[in-house]
Amino acid sequence: MSYRSGRTLSPEETFALGKQIAEGLPTQGIVALEGDLGSGKTTLAKGIISTLTGEDPDGITSPTFTYMQHYPGKTSVFHFDLYRLKGVDDFLRLGFSDFFGEGLCLIEWPDRIAPLLSEKTIRIRLDYSANHERLIALFNC
Ligand code: ADP
Ligand code: MG
Repeated sequence: MSYRSGRTLSPEETFALGKQIAEGLPTQGIVALEGDLGSGKTTLAKGIISTLTGEDPDGITSPTFTYMQHYPGKTSVFHFDLYRLKGVDDFLRLGFSDFFGEGLCLIEWPDRIAPLLSEKTIRIRLDYSANHERLIALFNC
């Protein structure tokens, strides 16, 4: 497992870090974005998604009510926000696990489907520190 971490001091820096991280991501697999509400998961996802698909970052929002948004592109990205999901059964019923083999899946609130995630999951952990500072660690298994 490789590990690297960084510190950002603004949403713009987190967005830029997302763009950097995107360069090293595979075209298929699962990226778990872990961290509390407001820790910067969606901001980081915007950097990743806009880099991999060419999508305008202003058009990228957390799919809180629809759970999933698909961005076709050079890499096909499936962006999940599972905050409101009850658990694994709902995820499977909605057919979402089918997308695991079809592109890069970015998952906010991955704990909702923990039993479905393997050791191969790339994990990105975001933590608050002071004010606008965020600590962001990447565990690339
Ligand atoms: P999440 O998806 O984890 O709930 P968001 O990315 O939607 O988080 O929101 C992060 C919030 O924190 C935004 O309101 C943003 O302006 C603020 N913020 C302050 N400092 C940072 C930072 N260093 N990185 C990311 N967001 C930050
Ligand atoms: Mg979010």
